[in-house]
Amino acid sequence: MAAWDILRRGGTALDAVEAAVVILEDNPSFNAGTGAVLNAEGHVELDAAIMDGGSMRAGAVAAVRHIRNPVALARRILEDGRHLLLVGDGAVRYARKLGIRSCSEASLVVTQQLRRWQAAVGTVGAVAADVRGVVAAATSTGGTFGKLPGRVGDTPLIGCGTFADAMGAASCTGVGEAIIRVVMGKSAVDLLQGRTGPQSAARQAIALLQRVTQSQGGVIVVDRQGRFGRAHNTKSMPVCFVGGMRGRPISVS
Ligand code: ASP
Repeated sequence: MAAWDILRRGGTALDAVEAAVVILEDNPSFNAGTGAVLNAEGHVELDAAIMDGGSMRAGAVAAVRHIRNPVALARRILEDGRHLLLVGDGAVRYARKLGIRSCSEASLVVTQQLRRWQAAVGTVGAVAADVRGVVAAATSTGGTFGKLPGRVGDTPLIGCGTFADAMGAASCTGVGEAIIRVVMGKSAVDLLQGRTGPQSAARQAIALLQRVTQSQGGVIVVDRQGRFGRAHNTKSMPVCFVGGMRGRPISVS
């Protein structure tokens, strides 16, 4: 609801998706920020990206450790504008320069049992359209359980796990190696050209993923009118949509 309040007060879609993803990163139930899965060496390495559809500026981080809110760091990279994607130690050193305090790895790791459960819960993402008809997307993840150190998935790769332009925005979840191959985020948004609405675009993007890779994933899509779509071929993908005059949350799955 913090993100909705930003939109309701006339704030930007970019601020809204950042706020939504920060909240989800701080929630240990999700595989992002606090509660992220561990890699093969028992460390937390996080990926995140954020993109503004109006300017098509983006920021991303990959394989970062000791950062509580990687999406906020991605936002600072977007605002800085010199680079788009920073990885590993370089990203952490950049965060330090900005005054973003690093955190202990222990504070990101939750109990063993919860971690196992989280391996199935997954990535967090948000898409939003603001009153100006500008859209934005943000996605954050701990990646896949037991991944090799240094592995980067679709989430921080613009066009793959996260994408926004003047037509719409998309945020993806699922098997990163497959999502990258079909450039799923941009594929979904490109489908918004012509008469295809966000729901159909989301379905077609998942059909593409299934057809080309026989792999699993999910996507949420918003267009500049604030129409929303989501599709997945995973067992489940919890989604919360907030919209309309009153901004009541409408859980759609
Ligand atoms: N797409 C993420 C990755 O491959 C994982 C996920 O969505 O659960 O890093």
